[in-house]
Amino acid sequence: MAYYSSAFSAHSAVDLVGLNMRNTCVIVPAAGSGTRMGGSVPKQFILVGGIPILVRTLNAFASLPSISTIFLVIAEGHIPDAAEVVAEWNRQPGSKGRNKAVPEISIVAGGTERMHSVYNGLRNLPVECDWVMIHDAVRPFASARLIEAAREGARLSGACIAAIPATDTVKRGHDGVVLETLSRDEIWLVQTPQVFRKQIVVEAYEKAFAEGWTGTDDASFVERIGIPVAIVCGERTNIKVTTREDLEWAEWFLSSRIEKGRP
Ligand code: C5P
Repeated sequence: MAYYSSAFSAHSAVDLVGLNMRNTCVIVPAAGSGTRMGGSVPKQFILVGGIPILVRTLNAFASLPSISTIFLVIAEGHIPDAAEVVAEWNRQPGSKGRNKAVPEISIVAGGTERMHSVYNGLRNLPVECDWVMIHDAVRPFASARLIEAAREGARLSGACIAAIPATDTVKRGHDGVVLETLSRDEIWLVQTPQVFRKQIVVEAYEKAFAEGWTGTDDASFVERIGIPVAIVCGERTNIKVTTREDLEWAEWFLSSRIEKGRP
């Protein structure tokens, strides 16, 4: 499957902070089937602005000097497609061998739910990794500033997530009837990246798996073992591409960026 246009980003990262900071690994869960989108191609492989969503997501991390390895978690049936993505990545100017600051990408097999995919990623982390960033493959527009803010939040507290304050009123409901209205001031809509000290997130996932507990984001596992999770303000443009409308928005967003001179 050929995914690329020549617009694959140039990896021009410079290792400004030195090897002592290169102990952060990224887990990119990309093993979803994307059934809500319709169609046979999982959404992470769909092109937006001529480039696969997955590649845009990887590019968001490529220029950050502090990242050593990206663990790309892929459903078994799509590993050859992902391998092609990685091969293309490695052929780009400034990639491995030419610029040591560009992260390695390692492909890991996914699981049935997101939590299984992330757990597989966690089990592959090298011993020298101290910090783990987890970022959905289908959030291609997280800015470098947001990723660094989440990392700094985790450095100060051990665990940090990106989230945006709710602007709509949020209610709980059941069978089409409102049960209660929640206090909007306390409602955050959670995004990724979510960043953790490795031992915290590994312990949290191991405990949840041992006890048969399930969760839909990584922080919920960490909250469960009593560790406070800090919040940094996310970005409204850091959407999770889930529906056809999200794809249309993504195309519009990219074209408006190009008009403003920011490809
Ligand atoms: O399921 P959801 O849409 O929230 O997916 C968020 C991210 O988790 C996506 O990048 C998706 O590919 C990934 N995922 C995964 N393994 C699964 C299900 C989802 O890696 N079994």
